[in-house]
Amino acid sequence: MNKENIQAFGNLVERADRILIISHTRPDGDAVGSLIGLGLIFEELGKKVNLVLEDGVPKVFHHLPSYDRVFREAAGVYDLIVVVDCSDIDRIGNVLDDYGEPDVNIDHHPTNTCFAGLNLVQETAVATVEIIYDLAVALSLPLNQSIAEVFLTGLLTDSLGFRTSNTTPKALRIAAELQELGADLPFLYRKAMGEKSLEAVKYWGLGLSRINLEDRLVWTSLSLEDRKKADYPGRDDADLINLLASIKETDISLVFVEQKNGTVKVSWRARPGFDVSKTALEFGGGGHKPAAGAEIKGSLEQVQEDVIKATRHALNGTG
Ligand code: AMP
Ligand code: MN
Ligand code: MN
Repeated sequence: MNKENIQAFGNLVERADRILIISHTRPDGDAVGSLIGLGLIFEELGKKVNLVLEDGVPKVFHHLPSYDRVFREAAGVYDLIVVVDCSDIDRIGNVLDDYGEPDVNIDHHPTNTCFAGLNLVQETAVATVEIIYDLAVALSLPLNQSIAEVFLTGLLTDSLGFRTSNTTPKALRIAAELQELGADLPFLYRKAMGEKSLEAVKYWGLGLSRINLEDRLVWTSLSLEDRKKADYPGRDDADLINLLASIKETDISLVFVEQKNGTVKVSWRARPGFDVSKTALEFGGGGHKPAAGAEIKGSLEQVQEDVIKATRHALNGTG
């Protein structure tokens, strides 16, 4: 991030009184952490802040400070609109339909489309919270224990507990700073990643019962019926993809989650040396080389067939 961009961000914040912050649907820890953390910083500066996630905050993050202050709609008038952890504007859902282009886009996806007036995109950051932390330090913005807790959650969840290939010494140094601000690392790890609800495990069981492995590609699906049977409240995969990615005999793993709106949410994971972000991009999604996603129109069967074919091409180097 260059100095001009950092200063431009500082100026926009200084001039704004009412600020809207938004992140992506099916929010993960980085989306929630970036949203709440930046919101708390702005509040410390005396701003009026509205935090919006179209899907709300998943239960797995209900131990975080201010999780209950996140709304599902963006009603109101704002001086500044900031989107965090989104590679393209469609990722936020429909919450900005009545508003213009967002003012600021803070993100770490290489597939980011630079959709805002000011785009603070840094691909080397492990998580978007890392970029926001850097902005806070560079602009001497306030930090406190609550902010540290949500930031550390973003770092932990996007790096799967500091074990993804993009984990840097810098991210670990920031984690140490956040611990010193009072964030309880083992507690935050356990709540966001170490514990599963019974419903989530039952949902996993349904997906695992029909797992497929063929030529180092592993995949499974979760239907709307599975979700109902397991009584699982989310519309995501309950992180089943990370379990599939741990299977030794694979290079690429895939999970297909049927949605109510006639689309299928696809998650890709790949071992180092493979790039699934390009295949995700082909299907209108995006992400990083080792972890990508897309929401694709079509039936579960059709989307599975098309995506497996395209992914196999990429895996064989013929795509
Ligand atoms: P997921 O499989 O949802 O955990 O996402 C893996 C990575 O891909 C994350 O970096 C997401 O932000 C990104 N991603 C997931 N879904 C989409 C999408 N529909 N469009 C763009 N990027 C996505
Ligand atoms: Mn995210
Ligand atoms: Mn992220």
